[in-house]
Amino acid sequence: MLDFLILFLPQFVFRFINPFNILVMEGIIFDIKHYALHDGPGVRQTVFLKGCPLSCWWCHNPESRGSEPFSFRKEEKIDGHVVAEQETVGRKINVQDLMKEIEKDTLLFEESGGGVTFSGGEPLLQFDFMLEALKRCKSHEIHTCVDTTAYVSKEKLQHIAEFTDLFMIDLKQMDDRLHKKYTGVTNVLILENIRRLDAEGKKIWIRYPLIPDMNDQEENLLKMLAFLQRLKQKPVVSILPYHKIGSHKYKRFGLEYKMNGTYEPEPEQIERVKNLFEQAGFIACVGG
Ligand code: SF4
Repeated sequence: MLDFLILFLPQFVFRFINPFNILVMEGIIFDIKHYALHDGPGVRQTVFLKGCPLSCWWCHNPESRGSEPFSFRKEEKIDGHVVAEQETVGRKINVQDLMKEIEKDTLLFEESGGGVTFSGGEPLLQFDFMLEALKRCKSHEIHTCVDTTAYVSKEKLQHIAEFTDLFMIDLKQMDDRLHKKYTGVTNVLILENIRRLDAEGKKIWIRYPLIPDMNDQEENLLKMLAFLQRLKQKPVVSILPYHKIGSHKYKRFGLEYKMNGTYEPEPEQIERVKNLFEQAGFIACVGG
């Protein structure tokens, strides 16, 4: 019996308990933003995970798309001289170190009703890492929000839902042909996942990136409203007007920028869209 225990007990501990599991569970992130005010309720810490299955034309975080860290040549002009250096986007982090970072803001979360938001990219591409981080946050009673494309399997969403207080999901384009054109993927799975999460009583905020000529047509807005009105709950709708802030990154990273010529929406248009959602009974806000 003693022989048996000596031989198999360590294997059992590592296989089923693995006290070092948390230490070795690593993810790849490309940023952590403290004091974020637009990524969910209260003051938040937003963790940006690398990798995204979509390729939205208007994406202002194109560095999020590839799943691995990458280096690029950064040039700056200092006193009339061009200074170049290699910079890397993305780094590995284990769950334990991530939690140390998150816990720095715990007091702020408590006072503001905030918490942590996992964003990207698509955070659920790093499913095991995400799940572990969410579980750890919940065990510390930290409010959790997952900012997801919802272009993931229903099983993954269901699994993390237990540890997620709020889902933030983009509704980009109701016409599937146009959705494929502008994001590279179908919207069928996304719409199904929103319906499913809603039916299961999960809290959802909808984000609508308002992009002139690509999804601001009346027909698209009316289809979005019809879809949202069929949900059991009335989600908050955040309108995210297109801006060109991230456009310089495309040149820097050697990527094609397809939005040249697209204008930023005027305040009147943004207000009109906000009113439309409000008149239909939704709480609508701009940004966030
Ligand atoms: S889903 Fe978000 S991160 Fe991914 S490409 Fe679209 S805008 Fe960028």
